[in-house]
Amino acid sequence: MSLHDQVAIVTGASRGIGRAVALDLARQGASVLINYQRNATAADEVVALIRDAGGDALAHRADVSDEGDVATIFEAAISRWGRLDILVCNAGATVDAPLVRLKPDQWHHVIETDLTSAFLCCRAALPAMRSRQYGRIITIGSLAGLAGNVGQTSYGAAKAGLVGFTRALAREVAAEGITANVVAPGYIDTDFVENISPMIREWAINTIAMRRFGTTDEVAAAVSFMASPRSSYITGHVLTLDGGWVMP
Ligand code: NDP
Repeated sequence: MSLHDQVAIVTGASRGIGRAVALDLARQGASVLINYQRNATAADEVVALIRDAGGDALAHRADVSDEGDVATIFEAAISRWGRLDILVCNAGATVDAPLVRLKPDQWHHVIETDLTSAFLCCRAALPAMRSRQYGRIITIGSLAGLAGNVGQTSYGAAKAGLVGFTRALAREVAAEGITANVVAPGYIDTDFVENISPMIREWAINTIAMRRFGTTDEVAAAVSFMASPRSSYITGHVLTLDGGWVMP
């Protein structure tokens, strides 16, 4: 129970990677705010799983790309638990299209959901972390932001932006006991990759050294380490998690 008494916020925790991260943090003793955008039933299910196991959790609907909504996430966590130790900026979306067909509103949607959201959430998290001189911030990047992926110029730009953002933030807060790191997965089996064509799936599997997609629990294990007090001397790091796909 290395996170006993700690409080975590996980954005986009109703499904996929965020769900696994929230469950793993709760297993280690953290109280967790489960943020979601649309899927209240799935978010409530995560809360129920945590409570049934003896933990504490709260579901909270908010669009992480909206400044007003983001403020409510932090108000809800602080008013319930009075502190914040861990922030996992996980919520994300993509609109895949070749650049010439990508519309400006699609570009802005991806940049705002995947990158602006981290700016809004981290800025809102700092006062509570600074007051205790302790914090763990993890942003969920992507191999697409490091190696590039066809049809993902907006997503790649947002995820590459997250790396620069997280490293700059890591330097700003390093002296205050707060770390900021990126966990950058390759292909992970979630709804996110559900619609990729069988051809791309086969190509991807053939180029991944382990010949398989990762699981959400494998991402959660890496995030949990970065979120723990044991990662105290790691900051500004980009931890890739891709089964030996790119090895950047
Ligand atoms: P899923 O599509 O399975 O889940 C997305 C989650 O984000 C849901 O909980 C969804 O909420 C939430 N969400 C989406 N938009 C918003 C928003 N504007 N405000 C609040 N919550 C929102 O995705 P994954 O679990 O696969 O991906 C999670 C993160 O991991 C993303 O940042 C993604 O880019 C990254 N990633 C994923 C990879 C993969 O292969 N799966 C690879 C590399 C990175 P709701 O249920 O309410 O819609």
